[in-house]
Amino acid sequence: MQTLESLTEKLNYLAPDQVEGIIRAYHFAKEAHEGQFRRSGDPYIVHPVAVCKILADMHMDPQSLMAALLHDVIEDTGVSKETLEEDFDPVVAEIVDGVSKIGAIKFESKAVQQAENFRKMMLAMTKDIRVILVKLADRLHNMRTLGVLHPQKRRRVATETLEIYAPIANRLGMNNFRVELEDLCFNNLYPMRADRIKRAVKSNRGNRKDMVARIQESLSNRLAQESIEATVFGREKHIYSIYEKMKSQHKPFNQIMDVYGFRITVSSVDDCYRVLGVVHNLYKPIPGRFKDYVAIPKANGYQSLHTTLKGMNGVPIEIQIRTHEMEAMADNGIAAHWLYKSDPDPAGGAQNRAKEWLKGLLEMQQRAGNSLEFIEHVKMDLFPDEVYVFTPKGNILELPSGSTPVDFAYSVHTDVGNSCVAARIDHRLVPLSTPLESGNTIQVITAPGACPNPAWLSFVITAKARSNIRHFLKNQRRSESVELGQRLLNKALAAFDIEFDSIPEDRLNTALNEAGFETFDDLLEDIGLGNQMAQIAARRLLPQDEDNTSELGGDKPKPLIIRGTEGMVINFAKCCRPIPGDSIIGHLSAGRGMVIHIHDCKNITSEMKENPEKCLEVNWAKKIEGEFPAELRIELENDRGALARLASVISETDINIETINLKEKDAHLSVVKMRIAVHDRAHLARAIRKLRQLKAVNKITRARN
Ligand code: MN
Repeated sequence: MQTLESLTEKLNYLAPDQVEGIIRAYHFAKEAHEGQFRRSGDPYIVHPVAVCKILADMHMDPQSLMAALLHDVIEDTGVSKETLEEDFDPVVAEIVDGVSKIGAIKFESKAVQQAENFRKMMLAMTKDIRVILVKLADRLHNMRTLGVLHPQKRRRVATETLEIYAPIANRLGMNNFRVELEDLCFNNLYPMRADRIKRAVKSNRGNRKDMVARIQESLSNRLAQESIEATVFGREKHIYSIYEKMKSQHKPFNQIMDVYGFRITVSSVDDCYRVLGVVHNLYKPIPGRFKDYVAIPKANGYQSLHTTLKGMNGVPIEIQIRTHEMEAMADNGIAAHWLYKSDPDPAGGAQNRAKEWLKGLLEMQQRAGNSLEFIEHVKMDLFPDEVYVFTPKGNILELPSGSTPVDFAYSVHTDVGNSCVAARIDHRLVPLSTPLESGNTIQVITAPGACPNPAWLSFVITAKARSNIRHFLKNQRRSESVELGQRLLNKALAAFDIEFDSIPEDRLNTALNEAGFETFDDLLEDIGLGNQMAQIAARRLLPQDEDNTSELGGDKPKPLIIRGTEGMVINFAKCCRPIPGDSIIGHLSAGRGMVIHIHDCKNITSEMKENPEKCLEVNWAKKIEGEFPAELRIELENDRGALARLASVISETDINIETINLKEKDAHLSVVKMRIAVHDRAHLARAIRKLRQLKAVNKITRARN
């Protein structure tokens, strides 16, 4: 039974006040889960207690144990993380929160690559590696009690465990966990095959019993004769590994089982080699089968001497020799580093322990001089430079950390990036510059005809996004500039009563040569960008005899029409923020194209005096799509909720607020500056009229700098 007593009797390695904290966590969890039951009919608390006991058996620290007891309360009982922070401590709350988050992500895809990414994502999401340890213990208990579930659910959980959790346990060197998880999965996924192997192992064990006892005795006796203190165990392969071997080596069961395995543990490295000498003396070693993993550890930190001997009647005997520390490392891996010690290092913290573990591995590997690839993997997993996010279909993409929805969009496809207009993270609309976090599900919203915004360049971080945006903008800027240049040139020619199409080709070419451009589009682009005056280019295109004659004679030139869709070459001045309906003037500035001001904006009136040739008469087109920013300055009485009412009136008029800024003027009045997006002057006037009706609004004006 999973009673409190059965738990506390495992806690004798902790101080009394620490045990007290764990008991408190038990009562908290019991109360929180009151009335909830496991599928087996047991009260729910049985499960967290069992999880806690698994970790207590590994002598984990008190915070992990408390977190184990509380691991389901956020997810299943609605207790908040803040409550846990207050009632226990922030570390415990953090671990419980981490376990809940991992539980919430669902593994759907079957692809191997996806499973690998999923494992990485899980590790990347985890700031405290103890989250993984609690999660593994949780999964282990759920696997132990899987039998009561519906067969289909059982298969799903077992598959997920075999693909995700067992490899994580393996990667962290936690062999005991891996072996038990694999066997439980095998039992649930292939009950018939597992049964057959289990029965075969059992009858085999009966046949072998005598032989095992005889070998064990002769090993022990010989070691005693040499006065080496050592323990000899008989070893059995776990059933999943037998199955895997049969499958991968195409060998029948008997051939795989035709080996006797023993492990000898000693207290020092020296003794390992002495034992080796002794057993090689006792039975003949089979050449080529000796491996020294003490001097050259395996990649996940495993250390041991391996040798195979030819025993009585020629039976092969496999022997592993290692120290007790090596044994602990081989069994529990990273968790061996949490073995509770009486001096807790509060400064160290969990991540440091994990780093310590890695450092240990690294040193071992360097001494041994073998491949660092595994370490690199684990390091990336635990301290990642990447984020792992889901597509809406459940695929996982790997991106550099700091990536935004725009980076995500471009990594899906260039077209998705180019036409993206908004994004949802976990179903919530977010700004396109929001940094992604591992585990997020990203949905990109695209619109036909949408195009990249130059502002994206300030926050995207992937090379793919950056180069695609640049490329697009360059092309687009050129075509927009060419188009504006053509319109400006047409207008300039109209002043001389000449139509562009009527100009003979040779004159076009001459003018082009004079101006030093290769193609006519280059010339138009230069005009559109404001680098040269359309009037001067137009004059070059005039027939020689007409030059200068009709310059003053023509009608007043028609204003250029602004449609609002010209793109980057037409800009709206930030000083006065013109909107359709305002009377406006265009100003050509070199390299930027045209900037539109309101006709009485101070900036443009002074420029009209100084550089009149750069100022152009322009007009709004009759119909203009889109929205334009306008600034309002509102004096508001300091009244509770006034700002909220203001905002709600604005949204009733179907207007977006872009920014809002509030400054208190005195005890009674505040000044609100607000930038809103409107269609035109009429739209703005409607909003102002509505705002005036608010009692708290004292004064309202359209603001200009
Ligand atoms: Mn659980």
